[in-house]
Amino acid sequence: MPYLKKENASLPWNPKRDTKVKGSGWTSTGNKKYKSYKWQQFRKSIFAERGGICETEGCYKKGNVLDHIQPVRLAPERFFDESNVQILCESCHNSKSAKERL
Ligand SMILES: [Zn+2]
Repeated sequence: MPYLKKENASLPWNPKRDTKVKGSGWTSTGNKKYKSYKWQQFRKSIFAERGGICETEGCYKKGNVLDHIQPVRLAPERFFDESNVQILCESCHNSKSAKERL
């Protein structure tokens, strides 16, 4: 049953893509928000409420990322919208991010 792939564990973004995005503006504001106290509290409460398991269908790993369903750059006003966030494990989050950046 244990099927833990370690790939990408230390690489949240594709670095090649990341350099392209740098300077576009939205990441820096996003990052600031992700470090804010309000976000930490928000994240904590969602994890507590939902049990902290990855919400991807068929995936039951422990989640460690609170992901925005509608990306922040498209809907910054939904940053603290509970219905716009989902708990993801690192590998699901990585594959979702990779798709979004194509
Ligand atoms: Zn997952």
